[in-house]
Amino acid sequence: MVNRSILIPMRITINGKVAELVTARKTYKCDECGYPIVPHSDYYQITLGGAGLGSIKFPDRVHVHCIEKYMETGGK
Ligand SMILES: [Zn+2]
Repeated sequence: MVNRSILIPMRITINGKVAELVTARKTYKCDECGYPIVPHSDYYQITLGGAGLGSIKFPDRVHVHCIEKYMETGGK
């Protein structure tokens, strides 16, 4: 169990999108900066809130430190 900082919210809602803090099981590419998200690190997985399975199948993934920029640009 990782002791997460209380400054990092577990769940953020962005314009109908839902970003949830999860732990990477393998390497992913960050949708904001394009650099890898390494396994066992925490990242935000972004899905469309209330949408069907399609949005969950292809979520956006961004680093914790990239979520602010991602929110500014509104994602893709
Ligand atoms: Zn990033």
